[in-house]
Amino acid sequence: MSAELSTCALCPRLCRPACPVTTGTGREAAVPTFLAGMAIEFRRGRIEASLAEAALSLCTDCGACEEHCHIHHPLPELLRQARQEVAVDRLAEPLRPIDGDARRVAIEADDRPLGDVVEKLSGERVARWKTADRLGIGAIDSPAIWSERKPALRNWAEGRELVVADGGVAKALESAGVAFTWLSELADSDGCTGSCAAGGERPLACCGGGGPLADHHPEDAARLARAFARRWDGARLVDARCREHLRNSGIDASDLLDQLVEAL
Ligand code: SF4
Ligand code: SF4
Repeated sequence: MSAELSTCALCPRLCRPACPVTTGTGREAAVPTFLAGMAIEFRRGRIEASLAEAALSLCTDCGACEEHCHIHHPLPELLRQARQEVAVDRLAEPLRPIDGDARRVAIEADDRPLGDVVEKLSGERVARWKTADRLGIGAIDSPAIWSERKPALRNWAEGRELVVADGGVAKALESAGVAFTWLSELADSDGCTGSCAAGGERPLACCGGGGPLADHHPEDAARLARAFARRWDGARLVDARCREHLRNSGIDASDLLDQLVEAL
């Protein structure tokens, strides 16, 4: 493991330009190479867990470094594993019951009626699954919590076709190996801006709303949102998590779901 991290720690910072946190905040402490080095230092007992956690959480788990890397080294996954060694356990809200017995389920992560939108688009009955914490994605780096959450998500999803509009929900399902469909795949999303969770175009792909950065370093996440806004043409977003983060950072943002709710 550390041997794999050392590939990055010894790399001449080749993916630095691709990392949205490094470029958006100007923080050299966020360079992917440096994060890999901090994980190694922690494993060697040279730095405390709190310092390692502060460094390793300077990441949105966007995947841009791996994509940019000449050998596609899986640094995001290596950082995820390292964070599990240093993270303080975070709680996840118990999963709520699914409202309705339809096969297709809309996962509603905010107060907008995604279920109504999916019903209109598909012409089918749709069940609703509400979550106030994006299916607990904030606890993904807490092994004790997440090792229970993953099979629970698989059980709840079994035999159902899930529709999502939020990158945090998508990441939680991906981690559990649960298939899902983005709202943008059901609706006409031509001209919309994607996200790191929804496979957006880089380097516009990360607004800073992804964890763990937004949870641990809100000021840096807001700086990243402003950097995103300078490149962004104002097109509607695909990902509701980006919309929320940009709005919380003072940027007027709307998403595909806003547009479809208006048309209900
Ligand atoms: S992901 Fe690739 S480019 Fe980035 S630090 Fe690691 S080896 Fe270098
Ligand atoms: S996953 Fe994204 S934010 Fe994290 S180190 Fe790689 S490029 Fe930077």
